[in-house]
Amino acid sequence: NSSLHELDPDVAAAVDAELHRQQSTLEMIASENFAPVAVLQAQGSVLTNKYAEGYPGRRYYGGCEHVDVVEQLAIDRIKALFGAEHANVQPHSGAQANAAAMFALLNPGDTILGLNLAHGGHLTHGMKINFSGKLYNVVAYHVDQETGQVDMAEVERLAKESRPKLIIAGWSAYPRQLDFAAFRRIADEVGAYLMVDMAHFAGLVAAGLHPSPVPYADVVTTTTHKTLGGPRGGVILSKAELAKKINSAVFPGQQGGPLEHVIAAKAVAFKVAASEEFKDRQVRTLEGAKILAERLTQDDVTAAGVSVLSGGTDVHLVLVDLRDSELDGQQAEDRLHEIGITVNRNAVPNDPRPPMVTSGLRIGTPALATRGFGTEDFHEVADVIAEALKPGFDAETAKALGARVTALADKHPLYPGLK
Ligand code: PLP
Repeated sequence: NSSLHELDPDVAAAVDAELHRQQSTLEMIASENFAPVAVLQAQGSVLTNKYAEGYPGRRYYGGCEHVDVVEQLAIDRIKALFGAEHANVQPHSGAQANAAAMFALLNPGDTILGLNLAHGGHLTHGMKINFSGKLYNVVAYHVDQETGQVDMAEVERLAKESRPKLIIAGWSAYPRQLDFAAFRRIADEVGAYLMVDMAHFAGLVAAGLHPSPVPYADVVTTTTHKTLGGPRGGVILSKAELAKKINSAVFPGQQGGPLEHVIAAKAVAFKVAASEEFKDRQVRTLEGAKILAERLTQDDVTAAGVSVLSGGTDVHLVLVDLRDSELDGQQAEDRLHEIGITVNRNAVPNDPRPPMVTSGLRIGTPALATRGFGTEDFHEVADVIAEALKPGFDAETAKALGARVTALADKHPLYPGLK
């Protein structure tokens, strides 16, 4: 019964160092967030010891009376949060949720229509060497070169040509809202299921700040750790008539024992997501992204060949376009890392540079909003990023910008109770 520090100082040191990294730098990876301490506690609880194959009230193991309570709370809370008819909270991750949803609706060889990876789609939406690309016949739609927005005329044309069994709407790197009603209409025209993967924008939907896909889609999948701000994990929401198919696709179709400690943490996160505090956080998340997009479209930045895809944002992230800049995605990511801002490089549509280098950055505001950032702080961090991406960046600039980053981190302490 030794503590982690006593039993395994090597692992403990790495965990401590990671806490320090999160506290002392600014996290702007669009898919990341900081889970509340209560979520960390639930996830670090004795529930990790319990096997519970099956579903609440129908388990294949004894002693499930307490994990049943926890899983039912998670199910009831997320159904209420999104107005869904059915919820499965067992997928271990977003990728598992998508795999199970497709397993429920499709047979190998069926056609799926999803957003191309380089245009903002996710690996599980049909990338060649992902399970989705190997098991299914993939047709991909794209964003329009001029507007940077999903080309719905192309979606309709491809749907009519290829008659997919499933259309996937959703994205990992896209700065605008999708037209769920248009996707539904097209799916109905060709007799396809519609699945929306709202992993990125689920928190915005929960707060009522983004249209909900739930009334339109047959199935909605999400992760629980991005804008939703919970533990790492996945969820599938669906219409009641698909409940049985979805549940059996998750277990026993794809997974064995559910991670009840993670499900407990999901339940806590869904409670938080129904609060006013959570809504305020999502409001600041959106405001921060808008402030960033505005700063990165000012003349001093665009003069350096830096611009913003689609000209702005309606969500929690900004996609920086470096195709006309001397800086590539890797160099820009490294520069921001040097001054204490963490982002990820990202391919832009029709990227001339290789995938490990790229010509873009994906920058998100959810984690900083969780940390307490408001209007003034987002203006400051946007200006720091703008200055870092301009020519003439040298050791002196790095030092001055690094000091401004540290001041922001100090102003909004993260996990002050944890050491
Ligand atoms: N779906 C989308 C749209 C995502 O962006 C991601 C992760 O980035 C996933 C699914 C997969 O989630 P996970 O990493 O939990 O498997």
